[in-house]
Amino acid sequence: MIQDIAPWKLRIEFEPHEPAPGDFVFDFTREGLLLRQGESLSFPTLEEWRKLPASGEGAQLIYAFRLEHEEEAGREMRFFLALRRTDSDIPAPEGWERLPARALWGYGWGWPAFAGITAFHLFNWYSTRRFCGRCGTPARPGGKERSMVCPQCGTVEYPSIPPSVLVAVRDGERLLLTRYNRPGTPRYVLVAGYVEAGETAEQAAAREVMEETGVRIRNLRYLGSQPWGLSGTLSLAFAAELDGPDTITWDREELAEACWVDRKDVPPVPNEESITMKIISAFRNGEW
Ligand SMILES: [Zn+2]
Repeated sequence: MIQDIAPWKLRIEFEPHEPAPGDFVFDFTREGLLLRQGESLSFPTLEEWRKLPASGEGAQLIYAFRLEHEEEAGREMRFFLALRRTDSDIPAPEGWERLPARALWGYGWGWPAFAGITAFHLFNWYSTRRFCGRCGTPARPGGKERSMVCPQCGTVEYPSIPPSVLVAVRDGERLLLTRYNRPGTPRYVLVAGYVEAGETAEQAAAREVMEETGVRIRNLRYLGSQPWGLSGTLSLAFAAELDGPDTITWDREELAEACWVDRKDVPPVPNEESITMKIISAFRNGEW
C-alpha cells in the first residue's frame, strides 16, 4: 500500500528546526505541488526552491516530517512545507511543473508519493487554520507541537484526522462492490463513509452499508487501517458477512451502482496502493 515505503520509514514526530541545505520543500498552490519536470517525482531542495522566482515571497517554512532509512543508520531526508498567507497561484518556473496531489497515487512511485500525499494532508490542514476558529484572529504555528495557536484567545488546534470506515461485505463467494456517481471514478470500490459523532467505528460500518446498499451485516471483523492524506482521513477497514436478505437498494445520489460480484468476475485492480484495492484483490485471489 502507499504507506509501505521500506526501507524508508516516515517519522512524523514534530521536531522543529531551521531548514538546512539538502532539506526538501513541499510547495503547494491551488494548482498543485511543485515538482521537477521528468519521469519521477522529485521535490526541490531548499537551495533550489529559494532560487526559484517568486517561491519564497511571503512564504513561511514549517517543519513537516522526515524519512529515516531503516537499514542505514543516520541516513534521512527532511521535509518542510511552504505556507503562505493566502492561497496563491504561482506558476511553475521553467523545468518545473505543478501536479495535483490526487495524481500522486496509483503509479507505484514509492516514498515520494506517500511523502507528497502526507504533506498535502498537513498543507490542507494548515491552510484552513490560518485564522482562529473561535475568535477569528490570525493564528500562528505552534512552536513545541504540531498545532495552530491563537495569540488572542489561546485556542490551540491540532491536525484533524477524521476516521472513515471501509466495509467489504461477503455473501459466500460474492463480494458487495459499489461505484461512485462521480466522473473519473469508474472502478469498483467498497462501501465507505465517515464516522459520525457519537458512533463507534462498528456502528458506522453497519450504518454506511445500510445507507448505501440497503443490506444488513454481521460478524464484523477489523482488517486494518490506512492513512489517506488526499481526504485527510484515517481509513478503518472491516470485513463483514451479509445478514438476511441480499436485495440491494442503492443510494442513487451517491452511487452509480452497487452489486454482488462473484469471486471469478471481480475485475483485476489497477494497483494495490489503497487498502480498498488491496482487499478487493485479496478476495479475487481467494485469500479470504
Ligand atoms: Zn482566538
